[in-house]
Amino acid sequence: MIYFDHNATTRVLPAVREAMLPYFGDEWGNPSSSYRFGSKLRGVVEKAREQVAEFLGASAREILFTSCATESNNAAIHAALKANLQKRHVVTSAVEHSSVLTYCRALEEEGVRVTYLPVDRDGLLRLADLKNAITDQTAIVSLMWANNETGVLFPVEEIAQVCKARGVLFHCDSVQAAGKVAVDVQKLPVDYLSVTGHKFHAPKGIGALYVRRKAPFSPLIHGGHQERGLRGGTESVPLLVGIGKGADLARKHLAGYDAKVRPLRDELEQGILGSIAGTELNGHPTQRLANTTNITFHGIESEALLILLDQAGLCASAGSACLADSDEPSHVVKAMKPQGNASRQMIRFSLGLENTAKEVEAAIDAVKRATQALRP
Ligand code: PLP
Repeated sequence: MIYFDHNATTRVLPAVREAMLPYFGDEWGNPSSSYRFGSKLRGVVEKAREQVAEFLGASAREILFTSCATESNNAAIHAALKANLQKRHVVTSAVEHSSVLTYCRALEEEGVRVTYLPVDRDGLLRLADLKNAITDQTAIVSLMWANNETGVLFPVEEIAQVCKARGVLFHCDSVQAAGKVAVDVQKLPVDYLSVTGHKFHAPKGIGALYVRRKAPFSPLIHGGHQERGLRGGTESVPLLVGIGKGADLARKHLAGYDAKVRPLRDELEQGILGSIAGTELNGHPTQRLANTTNITFHGIESEALLILLDQAGLCASAGSACLADSDEPSHVVKAMKPQGNASRQMIRFSLGLENTAKEVEAAIDAVKRATQALRP
């Protein structure tokens, strides 16, 4: 198998699994219990919080554990709307992940006004559009750092400055950025920032939300006193240990990430664009994550190509894994290129640290053979 779908999920690293195992075994207590067998696990939970905090440049008190980034994203927007009930406007973009877009659509049904900022052909925002969209009614701006389908990077520093200048809360979905570019909330004046473990070699089912000190927060999940009363639910100690260890390793691997992954991605991209007719890159050529390439194969439906690639042992996808069961075209590519079929005829390849040049060579070959079979 050649795994080129790291934006969908990543393998749990052996070191992460090892770190988690005791908490699936003998150390099965509840950290909220008063007796030692449980309460000694509080330190384990706090160590994980510190590891995630260090990964993001935050302090541990600013990290809230969640079940996934979908929850983190919902929680941030929810918190901002709760903070001031007079402010009933959200600004986001047309290319966000479904965890933001679907929640925004649900909010619209409750009377919240949502502005979906457009993007250009390269997938980039116009800052002027953002400035024009913000009003006195705006509760929060929620924009992603790196797009999961194209890897396009939004100018988050500038976005944060605009929000700060206008006194509007800023939430950044940093799920695809974390582990691929340096995420440092000391440098980025963001109020809320979401990450999820399974994109950086930790398990699925565990995420985190950074909430800047003094940023308003009210729980999305009401329950017990866990997470300082900000999110109810008994802590999953093994998953917390997993995200902590994953964050620690991702922080250590970051320095070598670009140098290792970018040449492989470029080789794949150039190999496909240079040798297969009727192909087109989706996404800005340079303002993009080092690992992602999104390519339209004109005249070939994504589904058909994916089936042949799967048969050749190559894992890739046609957009977000969360929507892979629908036959909707990619909303991201559609927002960039509304005319034509680019959004129905594209494949996303997303590489990772474990990929090799040999795999890239084999993948180019598999893509060539599949496109020849589909375009007789
Ligand atoms: N945001 C982005 C940009 C994503 O790529 C994903 C996952 O695909 C999510 C949010 C949701 O993450 P989770 O699966 O942890 O809910």
